[in-house]
Order: sequence, then C-alpha cells, then structure tokens
Amino acid sequence: MIPILDSKRQYATIGSEIEKAVCEVLRSGSYILGPNVKALEAELAKYIGCNYTVSLNSGTDALHLALRALDIGAGDEVITTAFTFVATTEAIGIVGATPVFADIDPDTFNIDPKEIEKRITPKTKAIIPVHLYGQPCDMDAIMDIAKRHNLYVIEDCCQAIGAEYKGQKVGTFGDIGCYSFYPTKNLGGMGDGGLITVNSENLKNRIVALRNHGGAIRYHHDEIGVNSRLDEIQAAILRVKLNYIDKWNKLRREHAKTYNELFASCPDIQTPKELDNTYCVYHQYTVKIPNRDNIHKMLQEAGIGAMLYYPIPLHLQKVHAHLGWGKGTLPNTEKDTEMVISLPMFPELTLEEQKTVASTLINCIEKSKTVA
Ligand SMILES: *Cc1c(COP(=O)(O)O)cnc(C)c1O
Repeated sequence: MIPILDSKRQYATIGSEIEKAVCEVLRSGSYILGPNVKALEAELAKYIGCNYTVSLNSGTDALHLALRALDIGAGDEVITTAFTFVATTEAIGIVGATPVFADIDPDTFNIDPKEIEKRITPKTKAIIPVHLYGQPCDMDAIMDIAKRHNLYVIEDCCQAIGAEYKGQKVGTFGDIGCYSFYPTKNLGGMGDGGLITVNSENLKNRIVALRNHGGAIRYHHDEIGVNSRLDEIQAAILRVKLNYIDKWNKLRREHAKTYNELFASCPDIQTPKELDNTYCVYHQYTVKIPNRDNIHKMLQEAGIGAMLYYPIPLHLQKVHAHLGWGKGTLPNTEKDTEMVISLPMFPELTLEEQKTVASTLINCIEKSKTVA
C-alpha cells in the first residue's frame, strides 16, 4: 500500500522536537494568543515576505475574514475558479456575496486571466485566484486586470506555502493572502489552523479584531466578529515545522521531476506543466489520463492511494445550484474534472515507491484499453 500522504513518516523524523515544544506550552499555562502565536506570526511574515501575518483557526476563516475586512458582502460579486476546494466559494457565501466562476487554463488548472475579464460586471468587487496544487497563478496578468478594474485580490494560498512567482512568494501580490495549516497541507499543524498575509496596517488591525470578537481592546466590541484564534499548541508545532518547509518543498519538487521522467514514455499521461519563472511546491502531483474513473478504481485495488481533487467542480455542486451555472458553462473545468488524478506525493516518498506507482499506473492504462 502506497498512501497519497503518510503523516506518520514525517512525525518519525521530527516527533521528538514537536513533543518538546508541545510540553513547553502545556507547562507554560499560556494557551491562547501567547508567545508562540506572536513568534509564529513574525516568523511567517519574514518567510513569506509581507509586512504582517495574522494567525487564525483555519484557511476557511482566513478567506472569510479577508472578505469581511475588505467590506465585501451582500450584492457584491467575487470572481474565482470552480476547480478548487469548496472553502473558497463557501467563504464568499458566508459573507453574503455571490461567487462568479471563470474557467481554468487546462495546462495549469488555475484560473485563466482572459476568462476573468469576461466575467467582470459593475458588481464585481474582488478576484480570488487559487494557487491550486501548489502551482502559482499568472499573477502579473491577474494584478493587471485588478488594477484596471479597481478590484481587490485575495490569494487562496492554502495549497501553496513557499510557492513563488517571479521570485516572490504567493500571498504577497494581492491585498490579502490566505493560508491553511490543515494537517495534510505542505505546512500542516496537528489540528486546524490558518493565516492571513497582508501589507496594510489598517487591514491587519481589522483582521486582528475580527478574529477575536470584533474588538481590538478586550471587552470593547466594535463589530460582529468571530472566535478564530490559532492556539499556542498549534503555533508551537508549526514553528518547529517551519524550519523544514523549504527542505520538504524541495523534496516534493524532486519527486515531481522523477514522476515526469517515469511517465515521459507514456503519451496517455499528461504530466503537470509549470508556468515560466515559478516555483511550484506540488501540494499535489496531478496528471490527466483517459478513462480516469476506471483507472482510479484499478489503482485503489492495486494499493495505490490515488485521489480525485476534486470529483465535482463547484459550479455543479448542489450548494451553488441556485446560481444557475449548468453543465457546459465552464468547459475546461468540466473536462479536466473528469481527467485529473493525484498520485502519492509527500517529502518522505521513496524512489522505489514512485517507480511502483508509475509502473502500476502505466499498466492500468494499458489494461483499460484492452477491456474497453
Ligand atoms: C485546504 C483549503 C482551504 C481551506 O482550509 P482549511 O484550513 O481546511 O479551512 C481553502 N482553499 C483551498 C484551496 C484549500 O486547499
């Protein structure tokens, strides 16, 4: 059995450091908004290259509070992709705004800037590009559209910590960047967690207040906020792991290169493409194949933990049915949804395992041809 991700292997390498950090928090008596949260926020601002970060309960809250901080709500439209995890559009719905979908570039799976421009109306307030699978979006083109139309940009970086576009980390191009520390992410906690990156001090202050019941001063509440604080235990764990993120991302990139080479002789497998001048961090290694559902089943039976991210695009989900997007409205998104499959990818993956994954996938594709 080769899993898509094996968190236990990572723990085996750094577990003793984590246990030490967690025990220190337990003994300290300081569990909420203490020294680890403060230090983590400063360390991540330095790592990502922004003025401020604000840690939160989840990536979903990061997206939600980013929209709140920019005063986006009822009557407003936000342009994003349907080829993403539901949290992206869920956040838009939570604030009462309407998600508007732009189709993807089939090479990168990311939102196609040309399609964004077609969706702009007088109600459009913001664009949420998603750096899917750890691959940076075309930020020059997106920022150019945003400037010309006076739109905010909120980057969904939940799958892309450490990814770079033209030497600059994602999450620093738009007004706000949103990160997740869900355990399976490239930098994952041992529970939920999230983060906002921001350069504006005013926006930072607003989000600091929103995450803690809508007030900067204790028991003084200026607006309806939420409880979305990252706890000290998660912050301490993430501080340990932050020391390894560059090494882990580098290993992911090496594994991606190895897969590309192993699949080079198989024309049925479309390996992922990278934009020029980007540093992709391969949260997932996702290929396109024919006859995907059959092959997915065959892989599972063969003990390969391949996954479908995501089996249904968001414009065809029940939650958004009332918006009236039907089949055929986003052709590239719909086509790729039926072809993508994500293969085992994590820093500790071995060459032997990659070879097994590759030969099994190639065999399954051949077999599916004879069956069909
Ligand atoms: C994981 C993820 C989120 C949500 O993050 P949580 O921390 O799980 O709330 C949002 N967007 C994308 C693209 C994600 O992958």
